Amino acid sequence: MTATAHALIGGAIAASTGNNPALGISISAISHPIVDMIPHWDFGYGWRKKSKTLLLFQSSSDLIFGIAVTFLIFGTTTNPLYLLICIFASESWDIMQMPYLLFNWKFFPFSTFYKFSHQTNRKTKMPWGILTQAATVTGLVLVLRFIH
Ligand SMILES: [Zn+2]
Repeated sequence: MTATAHALIGGAIAASTGNNPALGISISAISHPIVDMIPHWDFGYGWRKKSKTLLLFQSSSDLIFGIAVTFLIFGTTTNPLYLLICIFASESWDIMQMPYLLFNWKFFPFSTFYKFSHQTNRKTKMPWGILTQAATVTGLVLVLRFIH
């Protein structure tokens, strides 16, 4: 999914697990491959045909935007450092494959993350690729709010 979707999911998890950081950080990390199994679109779609500069620009903008929006929504609900850690735990799988995509670092551990992501990610085209993602994020935010 987009970095923005992963950031919001990490944020929602952080907001409802402030009293148990070890649990919250673990769930944030595990959430990544699970939600990536839902058919979605992201900036990695067709990455081979994009220039490295474009890919770097798009993925870092996506990440920065995601962190900003997550802080706007969840910034006052929990400790800001904890919120940031959950966001990065939720993004970590994609961050770990970026060196493979951007610098052709096709060796461990980046190649392992790339292969895992390639096998578990379900892709779909627009507009479904964004709609499934918006529904997943909204659903998770509401469920986590309810549990909390
Ligand atoms: Zn991913």
